[in-house]
Amino acid sequence: MDVNQEANGSRSQNSYHDHTVCLSKVLDHARQICTERGVQLTPIRFQVLTLICDSHKAVKAYDLLDKIKPLQPAAKPATIYRALDFLLDQGLIHRIESLNAFFGCDHSGHRHEQLMLICKHCEEVEERPANNVMNMLSQELQLAGFSEYSKTIEIQGICSKCALLNKQPAFS
Ligand SMILES: [Zn+2]
Ligand SMILES: [Zn+2]
Ligand SMILES: [Zn+2]
Repeated sequence: MDVNQEANGSRSQNSYHDHTVCLSKVLDHARQICTERGVQLTPIRFQVLTLICDSHKAVKAYDLLDKIKPLQPAAKPATIYRALDFLLDQGLIHRIESLNAFFGCDHSGHRHEQLMLICKHCEEVEERPANNVMNMLSQELQLAGFSEYSKTIEIQGICSKCALLNKQPAFS
């Protein structure tokens, strides 16, 4: 979906909240984290982060490459993947394994456990800490004697906003 469709689309987050606020918050947070850690938020890293956080949807790497070309004509897939690795390492974005896509984390700046709710209709992703679920999962893994690399649960379905729209005749 391009920027114009995004602005006009009824499914866009922009239709019910001012996403520029989210975006500037997440970018300020990223700048602050990188300064604190003494790591470089280079122009390409910053651009990749901005493109990912441009909406609450998950973004695939090849879509990022298309979008970055006009900004950085020399950008190659390896450039994008290096930028993604950096952003993942810094905890500024998360990878959604089931979609092979990425979305911005607006609150952490650290690797952390998460329950990801992935809407199949609007493609937006909501991240929740779900402490109770994670604690129970830890107990189960302990019983199994299983050491996890990471604890992320991806749930695919329909978000509350889309479910609400679904009740209206205009829904397609
Ligand atoms: Zn937003
Ligand atoms: Zn997060
Ligand atoms: Zn939705």
